[in-house]
Amino acid sequence: MPEPINARARILDAGDPLQEYRERFIVPEGVIYLDGNSLGCLPRATPERLEQVVREEWGNGLIRSWNSAGWIDMPAKVGARIAPLIGAQPHEVITCDSTSVNLFKLISAALAMRPGRKVVLSEPGNFPTDLYMIEGLERQGLAERRLASRGSMAEALDEDVALLMLTHTHYKTGELFGMAALTKAAHEAGALVLWDLSHSGGALPVNLNGCEADFAVGCGYKYLNGGPGAPAYAFVAERHLEAAKQPLTGWMGHAAPFAFSDDYEAAPGVEKLLCGTPPILGLAALEVGVGLIAEIGVERLYAKSKALSEFFRQCLLESGVELELVSPTDPDTRGSQLSFRHPDAYAMCQALIARGVIGDFRDPDILRFGFAPAYLRFEDMAAAAGHLAAVLESGEWQAEEYATRSAVT
Ligand SMILES: *Cc1c(COP(=O)(O)O)cnc(C)c1O
Repeated sequence: MPEPINARARILDAGDPLQEYRERFIVPEGVIYLDGNSLGCLPRATPERLEQVVREEWGNGLIRSWNSAGWIDMPAKVGARIAPLIGAQPHEVITCDSTSVNLFKLISAALAMRPGRKVVLSEPGNFPTDLYMIEGLERQGLAERRLASRGSMAEALDEDVALLMLTHTHYKTGELFGMAALTKAAHEAGALVLWDLSHSGGALPVNLNGCEADFAVGCGYKYLNGGPGAPAYAFVAERHLEAAKQPLTGWMGHAAPFAFSDDYEAAPGVEKLLCGTPPILGLAALEVGVGLIAEIGVERLYAKSKALSEFFRQCLLESGVELELVSPTDPDTRGSQLSFRHPDAYAMCQALIARGVIGDFRDPDILRFGFAPAYLRFEDMAAAAGHLAAVLESGEWQAEEYATRSAVT
């Protein structure tokens, strides 16, 4: 029944209040991009902005641009622009380093704020880097990693837990944690809470302060469209800004970096999370992406994301595709993605990419589709579902060329 689906897609696109924003991104011809949750599309304004930063600010301004172009303030400035997207105040967020490095800084800070407690509680199957960063601190004798499944999280929150550290939107399944309830439970147990917002920031409304969260981190290159390896962000609740101490005591986090003193004294605000010289090109690109997402608004983005993913499911159903859905069926309890399980998910993903439908594969058997609503159309949902149906029906994913895995999936 391809015609009714396509007709419905056209009607939905015509009524889409965000349709004008697709033009603000560069989406390659012939590509249906369902991987904006891994690397967001290039905003149309980014190349021009980077050209300006490179030629004018760097080329002509040279070292003067740290002041004249405001480079030195960019980590705080871009952080302040991210803040309203995640329910934070502008002075509680900074953009710097990678999510992994920011996890290290904030886990360490939390542990130091809970003397006598060493356990960092998380869940098995959390994003690998989150679990590995706890392990690194464990090896130094500073932390003890404890993993508990969602159902037993409350029981695992005992008087040894210093920090509950969870990823808000699960990277594989898209399942959301109840941020408010878990934060409250952790606080009642005397623990602090760190939320990883990598798959939430810019995709759905997050209310860190409304939930009384203590710390958070997140990625700049996923739904914020900051480009490959974009700087990450870190949040410290205002009430902890004084007490929180992070271990990477580089000069940029100093209260007065240009006093060149021999002794470290942490900056009073969230700038204390800085370590070394900020990456200006990356920050400039991220600023464009964040500005665009802020202009559209996360509430509108999430509303469209749910409509897109539900329409995609409907298209699959009507095309006779029967794949095991591992994401929650209720769109209000998942992030901006749908994941399916299939033993040959890798080969199927490759066959789809060959058709221009770019999703991704997550080991061992997950086929994952992200719905970045700023630049996707309902028409893309119908077409992608059609391709998936054709791939399954033809068995073309069984071709030998799709069997070998590349280094990055
Ligand atoms: C993508 C992602 C990261 C990535 O961390 P990097 O340091 O940027 O490589 C971390 N945590 C989660 C939950 C992610 O989804």
